[in-house]
Amino acid sequence: MPKLTVAVDPTLCIGAAACVDAAPQYFQLDEDNIAFVSVPQPIEVNEEQRRLLMDAAENCPTSAIQVSDAV
Ligand code: SF4
Repeated sequence: MPKLTVAVDPTLCIGAAACVDAAPQYFQLDEDNIAFVSVPQPIEVNEEQRRLLMDAAENCPTSAIQVSDAV
């Protein structure tokens, strides 16, 4: 299965939690209300999981989530 690297830029995150709502198995908010990826990287994904992560990135209001193919 393909592997992805997912990162949250804490300087862009405004704690809107859209990512946590969309994909709680991958994102959590820390004590400062900043999202972080809560699983080890790279993340092995099937197509459904890849779509979930891509959607989370696209729906982040500040484009704080970067998803890329792991090398
Ligand atoms: S959707 Fe974006 S702004 Fe909202 S908590 Fe997630 S990373 Fe932060």
